[in-house]
Amino acid sequence: MLWENLREEEFPFAIERSRGVCCMIIGSLEKHGQHLPVGCDTQKGGKILELAAEQEEAVVFPRFYFGDMAPNHSMFASQTQYGSIALSTRLLFDLLDELCDEIARNGFHKILLFSSHGGNTALLSQYVRHAVHTRKSYLVYYGHNKLVMPPELLKIVQERGRDAFPMLTDDDMSTLRSYTEQKKTGGHACFGETALMLGTYPHLVHLERMYENDGHSRHRVDHLTKAGLDWGLKWYANFPDAYSGDHPDGCTQSIGEACVKIAVERAATMIRVLKTETETETIHRELSTLS
Ligand SMILES: [Zn+2]
Repeated sequence: MLWENLREEEFPFAIERSRGVCCMIIGSLEKHGQHLPVGCDTQKGGKILELAAEQEEAVVFPRFYFGDMAPNHSMFASQTQYGSIALSTRLLFDLLDELCDEIARNGFHKILLFSSHGGNTALLSQYVRHAVHTRKSYLVYYGHNKLVMPPELLKIVQERGRDAFPMLTDDDMSTLRSYTEQKKTGGHACFGETALMLGTYPHLVHLERMYENDGHSRHRVDHLTKAGLDWGLKWYANFPDAYSGDHPDGCTQSIGEACVKIAVERAATMIRVLKTETETETIHRELSTLS
């Protein structure tokens, strides 16, 4: 159930059907090599969440396109990077806070922030902690749309059998095996992200452009990693094309559909757990009595 498609009088029924759970995709607008669109994180994660909310009924809030990322993303690039939007972490935090308050004011008491952008991890971990600290009247959870990389997909197909994944061809199986045997790497706009986009919005993927950028590290700030240090632009310094890992050679729409099937199952599990578990509500009530 998409929030924006509901009529006003339908909300009480939708809240009941979703047992008070509302989900929101938190994505990004960011360069993803030259073969994927800048909205890729929000688009693939949003579609996966929407499909999951059909399997395990819940209301889905309109897509949140803004992710936590470093400003001046293009400062290390040889050319201007168009289309990336970097809002301050403080503004993102405030936006999330007000949106969650509004979702709760409309009658939901559990909110799942479902992220599909790695850079959101710190922000959302902090936000769910903030929701506890500020004694919100509702509960907020953070879940991540984990990529399904070839070794994992191969393992799952072996466990469940080929019949569970009728979309996969023999060529797809060879691709998954060779990626795994060659120990290829993934990271950003890599095989895993390309597969999820091919499985959700294939017409937006331009595989012929994957070789346009180089996904290997420039190793400019490895000395920081070696010393156990982090820095706000560390990733961007090593991967100036917002592309990391080996090229997604052999990635197909059918592999993408298999990856999406797994990703949707995982998201549906998150929703199901939130709809049925009561322990966090009990703890939340106990905490309120201490304030
Ligand atoms: Zn991404």
